[in-house]
Amino acid sequence: MIPTKAELLHPVYPASWQRELARAVTDPQELIQRLELPCAAIDLEANADFPLRVPESFIARMERGNPRDPLLLQVLPQNRETRSVPGYYLDPVGDQASMGVPGVIHKYEGRVLLVAAGSCAVHCRYCFRRHFAYAEANPMRGEWEAAMDYIANDSTIREVILSGGDPLLLADSRLSNLMMQLERIPHLRRVRIHTRLPVVLPVRVDEALLRWLGRGRLQVVMVIHANHPNELDEKVRHVLRKIAEANVILLNQSVLLKGVNDRLEVLSNLSETLFVAGVLPYYLHLLDRVQGAAHFEVSENSALSLIDAMRNCLPGYLVPRLVREQEGAPAKQLIDN
Ligand SMILES: *Cc1c(COP(=O)(O)O)cnc(C)c1O
Ligand code: SF4
Repeated sequence: MIPTKAELLHPVYPASWQRELARAVTDPQELIQRLELPCAAIDLEANADFPLRVPESFIARMERGNPRDPLLLQVLPQNRETRSVPGYYLDPVGDQASMGVPGVIHKYEGRVLLVAAGSCAVHCRYCFRRHFAYAEANPMRGEWEAAMDYIANDSTIREVILSGGDPLLLADSRLSNLMMQLERIPHLRRVRIHTRLPVVLPVRVDEALLRWLGRGRLQVVMVIHANHPNELDEKVRHVLRKIAEANVILLNQSVLLKGVNDRLEVLSNLSETLFVAGVLPYYLHLLDRVQGAAHFEVSENSALSLIDAMRNCLPGYLVPRLVREQEGAPAKQLIDN
């Protein structure tokens, strides 16, 4: 059920997830002290370019005193980011160019991506959107009408993908309202939510969200984003199961990251752990070549050997599709032997 008018008019604000979000760590010194790391670990220039942001519950899953912790490496601003590397760009996937109506990215047939929120609960250092002008792209800041008209006027669109930023950072009242508007467009069949929040801020998946999620006409697919099995602690696995119980199909996408998850043992453990929580691996992305992320690059050949090795030890449904985003291509490019 979509929330009643009374529920929308009298929400309990701020919800506890909003309070936890507000407490996310943005001070590099604080992160370093909590994890008992040397001060030299963090780079202030890299931090100024794309500031640190990480919720406390994600920090709690990192190992103290380990500068190579796979969760820490995803969020720590490092001096390697400030080097300019040829072949790495500000907008590597050409998203800004494919935006006709503000906030609407229509690159692939039948699916349209909405930049539904302008920010994220965590700042992932490898993110291709690290230089993206979110604020200008965000249709939800002003009126959603132009985006809704665009979708309503193109009957080839069957699926709307809510992305961002992180769409689950919108309050339930706004998100469920957006859902209601989408439900009225007859040619739509599905809504897909691309979100990292169930992983980095599991308190976001609260009773209020579960009251409306997956209860409407449109089928809901949620694509979460976890790169390492350590991200999936008990609390995260619990909320994922709750989402699955709400009739939501759960998929995961990961980015292949050097030093984080570029080993067979880590990737197969990730797939197994996801499956226990009701999530199927969907995509394993080769890194988008965004400025500042070159040190995460894993070569295509190493990536292919990893996927081959996964095929040899896992059921086919636990092997993600290895893909690369190709500017101008009609779909994500499948990397295969
Ligand atoms: C990845 C992506 C999609 C979805 O692609 P699927 O192959 O359906 O997962 C849609 N639009 C944009 C702009 C994308 O980047
Ligand atoms: S959550 Fe996703 S969009 Fe946000 S910074 Fe991380 S990778 Fe980028």
